[in-house]
Amino acid sequence: MLFISTRGGADLYSSAHVITKGLAKDGGLFVPQKFPRVHIDDIMALHSLGYATSAAQVLSIFLTDYTKEELNAAANAAYGGNKFDDNRIIPLVEVTENTDILELWHGPTSAFKDMALQILPHLLTKALEKTGEKIKVVILVATSGDTGKAALEGFADVPDTEIIVFYPQDGVSAIQKRQMQTQVGKNVHVFGIEGNFDDAQTGVKNIFNDLELANKLKDHGYAFSSANSINWGRLVPQIVYYFKAYASAVANGRIKAGEEINFSVPTGNFGDILAGYYAKVMGLPVKKFICASNSNNVLSDFISTGTYDKKRDFHKTVSPSMDILVSSNLERLLYSITQNSEQVAEWMKELNETGAYTVDEDTIDKIRETFFGAWVDEIETEETIGRVYNDFKYLMDPHTSVAWRACEKYRLLTSDNTYCIVLSTASPYKFNTVVLDSIGQGIGIDAEDPFM
Ligand SMILES: *Cc1c(COP(=O)(O)O)cnc(C)c1O
Repeated sequence: MLFISTRGGADLYSSAHVITKGLAKDGGLFVPQKFPRVHIDDIMALHSLGYATSAAQVLSIFLTDYTKEELNAAANAAYGGNKFDDNRIIPLVEVTENTDILELWHGPTSAFKDMALQILPHLLTKALEKTGEKIKVVILVATSGDTGKAALEGFADVPDTEIIVFYPQDGVSAIQKRQMQTQVGKNVHVFGIEGNFDDAQTGVKNIFNDLELANKLKDHGYAFSSANSINWGRLVPQIVYYFKAYASAVANGRIKAGEEINFSVPTGNFGDILAGYYAKVMGLPVKKFICASNSNNVLSDFISTGTYDKKRDFHKTVSPSMDILVSSNLERLLYSITQNSEQVAEWMKELNETGAYTVDEDTIDKIRETFFGAWVDEIETEETIGRVYNDFKYLMDPHTSVAWRACEKYRLLTSDNTYCIVLSTASPYKFNTVVLDSIGQGIGIDAEDPFM
């Protein structure tokens, strides 16, 4: 399979190239030239396979530069052993009659970022062998909290790599900050920046686009790459769990094979939900993706108006991993829907220069066929954690709560009570202060970091 850039050009790239480079030269994002269809029987067949084997199978569809053995080795290194604290890797938990929660946070850093960042370093080092470049890779990461730690954990002491993480110094939780600052490894570097996640992400993108700097680095035998979800190597491992979750839901008797279901996804950079959309494009029976935002509701506004406008106040919320105003992966969706790279490049230029763009009616209508946008404020987020805990004895973190509440809003507004899988992206223990407050068991400690 070959890849193209969302911003055009007729150039085709190999999977090894897109994983080592992260971002296309024209500033666009790499996307597969086309998405192969997967038959429902093949989706169901994944159920009897272990997670690592399933992952290798799905990855092999896209990463055709790699041998089956290489993909199996990478998947086993990522999901095998004792790195995950549940041998199902992604438990699907029944909560109500028509709602399950998919727990994606059983990896080493207690956030769903592990699903991709445990495997990316293995894919990247193999890709470097394949492209034959005798270089060391400098991974630049902008993080709103979880990506940073997950990337550090994944890349620590991986040969021929250095990793540099930038996080907003006042925009991550106490545990997140500690997790990053205490990372062990010879090749790890961590910086708190003044500003928010978008500032960090823009800074990293500017470094990537600095050709002079890139040349200087090359003279010293280094090249930049990205571990953010703009890297295709981050997205493709996320497609896996949509297929696996569906197969589990059938096996658990929640739905029949072939039946359409909904997913509600707590969304920030639009990577997780986009992976689900790609699974649908490949044939997974999905009716709607509920795109759940916190008070940084730029995406739900976009879905309802067709205008993407980042010129608004940035809110620091109790779901900090979703505090984002520029959702980079939306560019991939726009390309997928329009198949028009010139148009996509123009919208992105407008966003860059004016802070906003408006898509045509046809495009937004097509997006609305598959996506429903809803946003959830701070009070609702905490209230939902408390209510779901009281009613169903299920404890969830604030990000998951946003998705749960968005699913309820969707049902109220549309009367569509289709079985829904709510993606749970972080362990409740990672956001313990808010979670305890929400269930009425706050311990009265407000100190951001009790260790300081
Ligand atoms: C990163 C993250 C999200 C948002 O995922 P995107 O792929 O950026 O949309 C949601 N919840 C948690 C806990 C995260 O770490």
